[in-house]
Amino acid sequence: MTINLSTANEFIARHIGPRQADEQAMLATLGFDSLEGLSASVIPQSIKGTSVLDLPDGQSEADALASIKAIAAKNQLCKTYIGQGYYNCHTPSPILRNLLENPAWYTAYTPYQPEISQGRLESLLNFQTLISDLTGLPISNASLLDEATAAAEAMTFCKRLSKNKSSHSFFASSHCHPQTLDVLRTRAEPLGIKVVVADERELTDVSPFFGALLQYPASNGDVFDYRELVERFHSANALVAVAADLLALTLLTPPGEFGADVAIGSAQRFGVPLGFGGPHAAYFATRDTFKRDMPGRLVGVSVDRHGKPALRLAMQTREQHIRREKATSNICTAQVLLANIASMYAVYHGPKGLIQIAQRIHQLTAILAQGLSALGLTVEQEQFFDTLTLNTGNNTAALHTKAHARQINLRVIDGQRLGLSLDETSGQSDVIALWALLAADGQALPDFEALASTVTSTLPPALQRQSPILSHPVFNRYHSETELMRYLRRLADKDLALDRTMIPLGSCTMKLNAASEMIPVTWAEFGNLHPFAPAEQSLGYQQLTTELEAMLCAATGYDAISLQPNAGSQGEYAGLLAIRAYHHSRGDERRDICLIPSSAHGTNPATANMAGMRVVVTACDARGNVDIEDLRAKAIEHSDHLAALMITYPSTHGVFEEGIREICGIIHDNGGQVYIDGANMNAMVGLCAPGKFGGDVSHLNLHKTFCIPHGGGGPGVGPIGVKSHLTPFLPGHAAMERKEGAVCAAPFGSASILPITWMYIRMMGGEGLKRASQLAILNANYIARRLEEHYPVLYSGSNGLVAHECILDLRPLKESSGISVDDVAKRLIDFGFHAPTMSFPVAGTLMIEPTESESKEELDRFCQAMICIREEIREVESGGLDKEDNPLKNAPHTAAEMIGEWTHPYSREQAVYPVASLIEGKYWPPVGRVDNVFGDRNLICACPSIESYQEA
Ligand SMILES: *Cc1c(COP(=O)(O)O)cnc(C)c1O
Repeated sequence: MTINLSTANEFIARHIGPRQADEQAMLATLGFDSLEGLSASVIPQSIKGTSVLDLPDGQSEADALASIKAIAAKNQLCKTYIGQGYYNCHTPSPILRNLLENPAWYTAYTPYQPEISQGRLESLLNFQTLISDLTGLPISNASLLDEATAAAEAMTFCKRLSKNKSSHSFFASSHCHPQTLDVLRTRAEPLGIKVVVADERELTDVSPFFGALLQYPASNGDVFDYRELVERFHSANALVAVAADLLALTLLTPPGEFGADVAIGSAQRFGVPLGFGGPHAAYFATRDTFKRDMPGRLVGVSVDRHGKPALRLAMQTREQHIRREKATSNICTAQVLLANIASMYAVYHGPKGLIQIAQRIHQLTAILAQGLSALGLTVEQEQFFDTLTLNTGNNTAALHTKAHARQINLRVIDGQRLGLSLDETSGQSDVIALWALLAADGQALPDFEALASTVTSTLPPALQRQSPILSHPVFNRYHSETELMRYLRRLADKDLALDRTMIPLGSCTMKLNAASEMIPVTWAEFGNLHPFAPAEQSLGYQQLTTELEAMLCAATGYDAISLQPNAGSQGEYAGLLAIRAYHHSRGDERRDICLIPSSAHGTNPATANMAGMRVVVTACDARGNVDIEDLRAKAIEHSDHLAALMITYPSTHGVFEEGIREICGIIHDNGGQVYIDGANMNAMVGLCAPGKFGGDVSHLNLHKTFCIPHGGGGPGVGPIGVKSHLTPFLPGHAAMERKEGAVCAAPFGSASILPITWMYIRMMGGEGLKRASQLAILNANYIARRLEEHYPVLYSGSNGLVAHECILDLRPLKESSGISVDDVAKRLIDFGFHAPTMSFPVAGTLMIEPTESESKEELDRFCQAMICIREEIREVESGGLDKEDNPLKNAPHTAAEMIGEWTHPYSREQAVYPVASLIEGKYWPPVGRVDNVFGDRNLICACPSIESYQEA
């Protein structure tokens, strides 16, 4: 017997659900005998073979972990006092283990199906309550992407709502974080907004502005009293947004109490690692009157079918990107997982704990400042929270050199000054080390103990917070680890995530997020690096990002990649900006028309708007394909002004359109650029490459195709790939070679989750990735074939095959039985499934994308559920089940309904155990069907009092 001694790569087969024998059986169902045969039939002739996945063979899980460990080791962790919006903090261990590293939390989808999302919705409602309490503004959303983009959202928000309609000027304080100002400039330019950056203390005339952004405390550390200034802005009809530090707000008068209309900022220091810049949750809070204009998602309280309180996403139709051309923001994926961490950090520490953390940091900073003054240094602030600016004059460069020799990072401000910020992890030894660093040679250091007993708060008395924080019981109950652990478990148990069931979401690719991919994310070498640490300390990240860029170029056929955009929507934005800058560089300023097929995802038109383009919608034909003649006509009509086409491939209808090359050609012939939305890349990797069949730029959703988990609605990464002519126009950053055009706060966006994609590609290798795409196509076609006799499959290619997803048309059933897509989606919950995507891209349909990670058993279980549901619908059609009082209309059924009186004409067994296999391991939804209309009419977006729960 011979034993193979080389390490086997077990990973490909672990990532892919179906076993070899299943694969053959499924292929046989479709009439194929090989995967190659199937993909040859699905991929159009004209683009076949465009992908050459020039990647090394996949490594085993153990080997890949060792490889990435070696990369991580090249990051150097120094003592860091840079601050500037990013602070060291402690992720409480029970939150690290039971939330951040727990698939029940990180593999969940965006809570569009509220009945199976009550746990994370509760946690997000806690987040909104936290933000609302700390900022003193009544309405907060459930996170934005980062502080800088939140500031940009605040700017356009002020523009829309300000009564100074004729103004196009926005005032931004020079005391804002520099990365925030950079993103504001990027976002303002295409909209024709002029950003005026100046010191507000020297501002004589406020009348030119529709709005203003202030930073509190200021980036340099000062705590300014903005009350008078806010009044001046208001009297000139301008709105005021304040970027505020959440921890400082536990001690300071909140923006809502000094008149701010909007507060934005980062929740990073509430337990989220620095991660070289992200992902972190940003927040956005505003007045009640402005709530319907809020960007991002908002969790609200409603009731379920039984009148019991239930949470859901409020005003979903108001969600900006869903409003397409009328949208004012393109944000879709946000930062839910990170918002949940921040919210649990507040739940765990409670108001007293948070105040204590803040007071300790402030006291240490005050001691530090006193000592520095005693040493003869010039501290510029008299009133500060945790940050100081030192005027170090000509000594500045020498001090940075000395600091580096001691492995200490200080903030680089300019040639004459340096900055330092203390944080939750700082202690006495940090203060003494900083004194020792900054003292002259041989100078005696101050006596810490003596200063500690005399120094008092430097916060201005008039700005000391009087209002209480976090009085809601949820922030005062779970302060022991046992209690918190059980609270996290209880919430997770309410939800359906990938750890319990397939989530067959068309367009959203909910595939395996393998444990080996996730493990490096919480390593200190990736987690504890500051985004603005000196470049020589981030060699590991530099290797990781360089290699990942090369991997993604290989996967897409593009020439260069930017990893900066922190969601697909931001990738779209960066991509359109690149196209715009390219046209401008050629003197083609008039090119501002963006053609978008009617089937596009809502972020596409929303993004085009933000990039200052005019959207022209083109038609789709009866098969769901782009109507090429309509497209041609519009491209020709607008050829003088054509900037771009945004097209999703394979189409949002789940089909590889054969005309894609022709379509790209029409756009190029008329002077436009082609943006291929890469959200459906899971059907293409290794089979065809957008950069080779006509695309000039694409975004990828690493949280779809490349295994970053959805986190319940974020984080995400939306890198863009471009052809070489667009490379000069990729996003830059003050910390990068190209300084202009940052689209988010940190140079590599959500850097700390990039290891997930690196690991995935490293383990799969070229062959594995191609196999994954083939299996994704096989699984989708298998489902389509098994279900087509029960539900019509809406679109397929000319060969009768779909790509990696399929759309089931339920509209005829609605006609014949009154049963809607909603009823079917909710009934699936009784079977223990998360619903497919509902009514996108076509109303009244379900879009199913199984992904390659689902086994044949799971696909069969899903098909069985769908077939059972079809039987039930048939009974409704035939009158065997009542038209109104039936298991579909009443779904999902809760455990509470099973006890007590049962009045329905169908049995309890049919309600909750429609298939026998459910008796073992039944999922019980905690609430019945949620009433969206009620919640939108009675909008409540913070934790209701416990009493109101009890009353209900
Ligand atoms: C998901 C998706 C987007 C938006 O990506 P986010 O990461 O959610 O911002 C854009 N286009 C399509 C087709 C998508 O499916």
